[in-house]
Amino acid sequence: RRMAYHDSLTDLPNHAYFEERLQQALSEASTHGQSLAVLLLDLDRLREINDALGFHQGDLLFKDVGMRIRGVLKEDELVARMRGDEFGILLPVSDTDHAAAVARRILDALGAPFTISGLMLNVSAAVGISLFPQHGSEATRLIQHADMATRQAKKSGKGYTFYTAEQDEGGLRRLTLAGELRRAIEEDELVLHYQPKINMRTGQVCGAEALVRWIHPQQGMIPPDEFIPLAEHTGLIKPLTDWVVGAALRQSSTWRHAGVALPVAVNLSTRNLRDAELLSKMTRLVAAWGAEAGWLELELTESAVMDDPEGALEILRRLSILGFTLFIDDFGTGYSSLGYLKKLPVNAVKIDKSFVIDMLSNTDSAAIVRATVVLAHDLGLKVVAEGVENQATWDRLAALGCDVAQGYHISKPLPAEQFKAWLDERARNAKAGKHAGHTRPRSSRA
Ligand code: C2E
Ligand code: CA
Ligand code: CA
Repeated sequence: RRMAYHDSLTDLPNHAYFEERLQQALSEASTHGQSLAVLLLDLDRLREINDALGFHQGDLLFKDVGMRIRGVLKEDELVARMRGDEFGILLPVSDTDHAAAVARRILDALGAPFTISGLMLNVSAAVGISLFPQHGSEATRLIQHADMATRQAKKSGKGYTFYTAEQDEGGLRRLTLAGELRRAIEEDELVLHYQPKINMRTGQVCGAEALVRWIHPQQGMIPPDEFIPLAEHTGLIKPLTDWVVGAALRQSSTWRHAGVALPVAVNLSTRNLRDAELLSKMTRLVAAWGAEAGWLELELTESAVMDDPEGALEILRRLSILGFTLFIDDFGTGYSSLGYLKKLPVNAVKIDKSFVIDMLSNTDSAAIVRATVVLAHDLGLKVVAEGVENQATWDRLAALGCDVAQGYHISKPLPAEQFKAWLDERARNAKAGKHAGHTRPRSSRA
């Protein structure tokens, strides 16, 4: 019985025990007309800790986390290890205020660093809460709803969140979209928009980033942040990336016939880097469009690379040998070791827009931007700043020696025809000696 109901690692009750106790608590609460609360707690960054320290140390950490949670609960309240890095907490008599207070106490208790094998580790956690009877009357429902609330808490970074019906609708929408995405790829409901990249020294357009959008027949345009994560979870990211690369090459070939020879950048996901067929597929697509590797730039997020540094290194090396230009995207948001950057066969880093957007008002962001430019240049890499939204930011970046800029100040991402029109207009202006503010060094400011 002990084995069936216990998690041997943490010595805490397990998922099965939690559900059984929740069922009992539910029947008691409904008999006495009381309310109860289910809390689900999810630890962040645990994978990194496991990777860095080994699984055994990760287990010790779980045990400590369980003990700290236990420490803030009353006698009749329960903490269980649900699965992986998730803990369940049952408050058999509780209302909104009590549940919120417990959540805060737990987060406080986990706020102090953990000492594992002499190392101090900080973990952060997200807590989702569902209440009986407001959010459901069955155990599985309440757990499911607390789980949705946990995801919301993670996303908002708020620490803890109560379940709301909108989260459910969000979940439903995601499920429906995931089901429709395959059709969208097959039936060409996707389009690429293009955003120019500008060489800050010469003011010349030096490339375009292809950004995918989904034109949904009923819902209209859906931004990539909504469906790329779905594609990543369902494995559809592979056919989606094939589609994007094919479409970018076709567009590139059209532009080249019209005399515009700009490299087009496409974004690759973590999953793409783990795809054993990536290299052969890229080679095949390039050949099929009569293109060359140099037509494409590949943007890989820092986290995609750091997920499996050794594996990524090998793939990047081969892509680089094939002639693709490689960019580290969203630089500054992940946990790259700077020494590691030196080993990567990449050509440039893109400073994430979150730092660029507020670099004039936030000294931390300013420091990260400045340090990235210096570091990248020392390593012989070019620096691209994304999210350049105004002339003042452009001027500051230019003064720091940043090489390339991209952002709304220059242009939003545009459909292919509009992008071409924008290029033509810009060329006309240049001929007529008219310069938009950002095409020239700072002296040209109006
Ligand atoms: P990203 O690669 O970091 O792309 C830059 C995003 O910042 C784009 O959003 C772009 O529209 C936006 N942006 C550009 N300039 C500015 C600016 O000045 N201010 C602000 N606030 N934003 C700016 P978008 O198009 O919604 O794309 C979001 C993300 O979706 C991309 O982030 C990328 O991670 C992903 N994504 C887009 N297309 C693809 C794709 O074909 N494949 C994959 N795997 N991911 C894609
Ligand atoms: Ca990108
Ligand atoms: Ca970015």
